[in-house]
Amino acid sequence: MKDLSSQVLPPIALRVFETLPAYCVVLSPRLTILTVSDNLVKLTGKPRNEIRGHHFFDFFPGLPASGEKDTSISASLREVLRTKQPHQIPLTRIDLPDPLNFGNLKETYWQVIHQPVLAETGDIAYIIHEIRNEFSDAIAARKLLEVNEWNMRLLNGDLQQAYEELQASNEELMSGNEELSAINEELQQMQDELARLNENLESRIRERTAELAISEQKIRSLVESAPFPIGVYTGPEMRIELLNQAIIDTWNRGTDLIGKTYAEVLPELADKGVYEHLDRVYRTGTAYHAENERVDLVVDGTLQSFYFNYDFTPLFDSDGHVYGIMNTAADVTELVNAKLQAEQSGKTLYNIMMRSPVSKCILLGPDHTVTVANDRMIALWGKPREAMMNKPLFEGLPDAKNQGLEHLLKEVFTLGKTIEARERAVTLLRDNKQETLYVDFVYQPYRDAQENIIGVMATAIDVTSQVTARDKVQHLNEELAATNEELQAANEEQSVANEELASLNDALKISQDELELAIDAAGLGTWDFNPVTGKFSGNDLMRSWFGLQPEEQIDLSAATSVIAETDRKRVMDAIARALIYESGGSYQIDYTIINPLTNAPREVRASGKALFDDERRATRLSGVLQDVTEQKKDEQRKNDFIGIVSHELKTPLTSIKALLQVAAMKLAKTDDTFLKGAIEKSNIQVKKMETMISGFLNVSRLESGKMQIEKTGFNLQELLTEIIKETEISLSTHQIQFLPCDPIEVQADHDKISLVVSNLLSNAVKYSPKGKRIEVGCVITGPTVQVSVKDEGFGIKEEHKESLFERYFRVETSYTRHISGFGIGLYLCAEIIARHHGRIWVESTEGEGSTFFFTLPL
Ligand code: ADP
Repeated sequence: MKDLSSQVLPPIALRVFETLPAYCVVLSPRLTILTVSDNLVKLTGKPRNEIRGHHFFDFFPGLPASGEKDTSISASLREVLRTKQPHQIPLTRIDLPDPLNFGNLKETYWQVIHQPVLAETGDIAYIIHEIRNEFSDAIAARKLLEVNEWNMRLLNGDLQQAYEELQASNEELMSGNEELSAINEELQQMQDELARLNENLESRIRERTAELAISEQKIRSLVESAPFPIGVYTGPEMRIELLNQAIIDTWNRGTDLIGKTYAEVLPELADKGVYEHLDRVYRTGTAYHAENERVDLVVDGTLQSFYFNYDFTPLFDSDGHVYGIMNTAADVTELVNAKLQAEQSGKTLYNIMMRSPVSKCILLGPDHTVTVANDRMIALWGKPREAMMNKPLFEGLPDAKNQGLEHLLKEVFTLGKTIEARERAVTLLRDNKQETLYVDFVYQPYRDAQENIIGVMATAIDVTSQVTARDKVQHLNEELAATNEELQAANEEQSVANEELASLNDALKISQDELELAIDAAGLGTWDFNPVTGKFSGNDLMRSWFGLQPEEQIDLSAATSVIAETDRKRVMDAIARALIYESGGSYQIDYTIINPLTNAPREVRASGKALFDDERRATRLSGVLQDVTEQKKDEQRKNDFIGIVSHELKTPLTSIKALLQVAAMKLAKTDDTFLKGAIEKSNIQVKKMETMISGFLNVSRLESGKMQIEKTGFNLQELLTEIIKETEISLSTHQIQFLPCDPIEVQADHDKISLVVSNLLSNAVKYSPKGKRIEVGCVITGPTVQVSVKDEGFGIKEEHKESLFERYFRVETSYTRHISGFGIGLYLCAEIIARHHGRIWVESTEGEGSTFFFTLPL
């Protein structure tokens, strides 16, 4: 049964052992042969497979059996098993088959050594049984020498004795011939003995020669079986004397090479310096050693590169002359190629790293020294290259400290972990600016050829822009969502508003219908003018007044042709003015139309309002038309009456005035203060009455179209100064201040503008408490001059501001009740200013005062 425990030996260990240049057996503790060395295989002449697995003594029965002697192999093995110490058997004679004398055993001497191999547990794992026979020849020779010496000593002793005996014999010869012959016989015997001895010596020498031949044979077989190339070349031409299988295999050019010269076998090495090395070794006797040298050999017809460590060792003859060279070599091609490959892959790695589209670096050692870093990594760090290279990472990049990176790098370097991070925020001082970057990175252990970790390889991608872009998008999305919600809410509001609008529309429709009904009932004409198309339309009543067919749309000029010629221009001007945005768009005018069908005149009052678009262009002018023929007639009658009355009142008033003047003159010398006062008060009352009457006359003139505007050029400043003076004379109750004003030349009706200013001033006095200030101002604004009269009086309510300028309008309050007047002063002012194409208006705050303005074009 074979013991399979040999399986436990690793194959390479087996091979190492087997190629050892010794005679060895590896035994298990149970003495099973695990393997034997190549030399012993050769010695036994059996294949290794047949030897392995057998019990040691089963396979080597010729050895002494166990327990026989203390010096025996089995005792030695037992000793080793017991002591776990090496044990050596003293020189033992073991007779082995004689290779020269087939069938006979040959006396050989062996040195047996047992070497235990201990396992980690301390138990014996293996025993190496080694037989050293290199001593056997020497021992034999020594033994022979010992025998010879012994014989020689014996011989010397014998000779001495013989000599002594010869002496004695000679002495005895002297005494007797009988004894001489006896001595002669002994001498003869001695001679025979010497001859035998001589013969013995010669045979010993023959034996020795044969042994030497065996020894040479052994060396040859040793050389031949050596696993590395060996060659022996002799003579200056380097003729091949001996080649082992390894060198034949390496050269790979057949086996029939013995006797050829080195140059004949390896012609491709000419001019490569190899022949020269051989030549030098042969000539100088100095060995040559080459390390990792490239040798190009032709293998299978192609020149291939090999790397060898090789030696040319000179071989000396007994005279000390070089007769040949021993060439030993070790094929290190794979080793060198591996090294070159490693170097190349190192370079390739460097190139890949430097050209990598992502940031890469190698940090060596525990302090992470920056050894390799591509430009992208340098850019990521934001420092000059020289500030980073060949320095510990955190020395070049102190700003990256205390952000947890030290810990990660340490884990990779000490534990060999690979660490990946996504969008990790790292704050760095880049180009002197503190920036927060977001980086994807991988830290991998960086190893040497022996797989030891020597550093960290870092790969990083700057994803800051993606992260910020995503944040922005997220932010935008949130905003969008919020806007959406708002829109939704707005939509809901809109739909509510729409509904309201729809119901309003309905209501509007109803009220429009109602309005139309009301308009019809009120006998109002409605009209609509589109300034864009120039078309004019109106309701049935208006059509009938204008003599138009139903549904007919006409041009404005066709409509205005119906207006009495005397009024036509005035109406056209009023329409044109209302269509200017700055005018406010109001349109109100009375005029006469002549029905084209009946030729009957009709007094109408048109009032309307213009609509403007965003660019302040009029898009519509529409309104109503009221038949005021009867009203006008009434007013005419009233005006006529007022005119007649005023006129009639003027004559007696003039007489009263004259009489008062005469009375005043006559009373000038009297001391009657009552009469004097009465005359003075009467004068004031007469003046008031005169003003009233002239007011009525003016209204009457105005209404009957008899008020004429006669423009002359005059200085407005002077006019204002005059009127202020006059007023101050008659009314000393208030302080009137004329604000600084440049001389302004205007083209206007001097008396009418005087009337306007006097009216405004007397109102300011009338409607403000005594002692209050009145300010008169005059400024140029654009193409007009603007006059203002400001008081600190009662002021005017907002709702009354529009109506102030209407005929006979008065504000009825507890203050104004006792102030006399007819409400015609401001009406006259407005009409006069309108006829000058100016504007008149009031700004007032109740309880604080009012300012009346009017403008005149320059
Ligand atoms: P009268 O003064 O004769 O009543 P007006 O046409 O001059 O007529 O004025 C019309 C009304 O405007 C006055 O009754 C008065 O109520 C008001 N009014 C005019 N001027 C002033 C003013 N300066 N301050 C306050 N109210 C004024």
